[in-house]
Amino acid sequence: MDTDKRSSDWSDVEIQAAVDTYLDMLNREQGGQRMNKAHENRQLRAGVLAARTEGSVEFRMQNISTVLLEMNRPWINGYKPAKNVGANVARKIRDALNLIAMPTSEDFEPTADEITLEKRAGKLEKQVLAQPPKGILKPQLSSAAGKAFLRDPEVRAWVRKQANGVCEGCGQPAPFEMNDRPFLEVHHVKHLADGGSDRPSNAVALCPNCHRRCHHSNDKQAFTACFYERVERLVRED
Ligand SMILES: [Zn+2]
Ligand SMILES: [Zn+2]
Repeated sequence: MDTDKRSSDWSDVEIQAAVDTYLDMLNREQGGQRMNKAHENRQLRAGVLAARTEGSVEFRMQNISTVLLEMNRPWINGYKPAKNVGANVARKIRDALNLIAMPTSEDFEPTADEITLEKRAGKLEKQVLAQPPKGILKPQLSSAAGKAFLRDPEVRAWVRKQANGVCEGCGQPAPFEMNDRPFLEVHHVKHLADGGSDRPSNAVALCPNCHRRCHHSNDKQAFTACFYERVERLVRED
């Protein structure tokens, strides 16, 4: 059995790695996406948790469930909360959970600034988003220099989570990662400048090639039209 003494040997870095993986899996579970516990366990032991056994990693995941349960937060069904979590381990897990910043109300505020929008969306992407965001029916142009539209960071986060790392244009995995996330750009199928909404029903997550194709190619109209057949959540806007 994994005694508390041995448990306390886990370093902060090890605990953080387990918590990061756990929250990613929770996100996927809550989003109705597939997740493979055995695979994630192996991945962890191929990296930061190389010194740990499969059973030890499994037990640690159950510890995380216990702490989340105590914090009144959702936990992964497949990891039944373990009964005896040492106080030291519980504290380390709580610290690791708190390090993953919780969004503030500001993170949900629309912005026209691309860098701010991306920062907010990136933060929201790490959260469990239970409901599709309403978004903005008629995005306004900001009065600041640059003349960009005010957009909802949650729409960007939601659409990317739906795409789950796969381009909704060509069906290929994102070509690279940025900030540990698959790089996909969110494109408004009916352009904002043409009166399109900033809603999940008018936005797709695309690889840079497909995104360019939408804006610049000879076949941009035909290419754009096929999104309505391929991506279920899209609704044509007049
Ligand atoms: Zn693509
Ligand atoms: Zn675009």
